[in-house]
Amino acid sequence: MARLNKSSARIALPTFDGDAMIELISKFLKVDERFIPDARGYSLYLRPTMIGTQRTLGVGPPASALLYVIASPVGPYYPTGFKAVSLEATDYAVRAWPGGVGDKKLGANYAPCIVPQMQAASRGFHQNLWLFGEEEYVTEVGTMNLFAAIKNKETGQPELLTAPLDGTILEGVTRDSVLALARERLEPKGWKVLERKFTMKELADAADEGRMMEVFGAGTAAIVSPVRRISWKGTTTENEECGPITGQVKDWMESIQYGDEDHPWSYKVPE
Ligand SMILES: *Cc1c(COP(=O)(O)O)cnc(C)c1O
Repeated sequence: MARLNKSSARIALPTFDGDAMIELISKFLKVDERFIPDARGYSLYLRPTMIGTQRTLGVGPPASALLYVIASPVGPYYPTGFKAVSLEATDYAVRAWPGGVGDKKLGANYAPCIVPQMQAASRGFHQNLWLFGEEEYVTEVGTMNLFAAIKNKETGQPELLTAPLDGTILEGVTRDSVLALARERLEPKGWKVLERKFTMKELADAADEGRMMEVFGAGTAAIVSPVRRISWKGTTTENEECGPITGQVKDWMESIQYGDEDHPWSYKVPE
């Protein structure tokens, strides 16, 4: 709810009380309980949304708006098990830029990505890997945050990297969850979890030198999406179908989501 409020505020839509919204959604879930699938992997997708509804032509803050929740039963994102994706590192189009709105969940961010996605698809890739700037910083993949597990060049220590929230990165709830779980559960095992800028060259070098372990996307729909290949300037990095960390993260997240594990992130709908 905090993120929807931040996104709304950025485009002059009204904000609302997040706790009250959660209470309303709880009530709605009791009314429509029969639409909540109980098989593992299935869920009721909930997407709070806001649109301006003022019936005038012109550019200005809307005097009326509609806050509503899209609710739809959904099946598993990967019905036949994980399917790793291949990515085209994209330098001819930019998803987000400093001072823009790429860090907000706005519909306006998605339409401009459809043509580059179709172009990548025409060359046999599933998604765009969005690069930024002359340095070619790795930012996000399609509409997911990106994580890379590589071994440090000097020390050989395994590191889990993701781009920092510098205004060009969407603050994914999944990203945040993966970071928290990795800090709690991977760091004691000798990993370093880092939010820092890293370039495509750094990734390609890691792959060349055998230091690339795994790459995966992170977002609500798929939880994690393993990356098999990245094509960049005529070179291609290769990874296995689904690496152990990617699988581990998915299991941790699912066990919290399905209530196998009691966790402070869970919200229990009151009886
Ligand atoms: C929605 C989205 C994500 C993932 O956010 P979650 O809260 O984890 O679902 C990441 N990047 C972009 C560009 C997105 O639109």
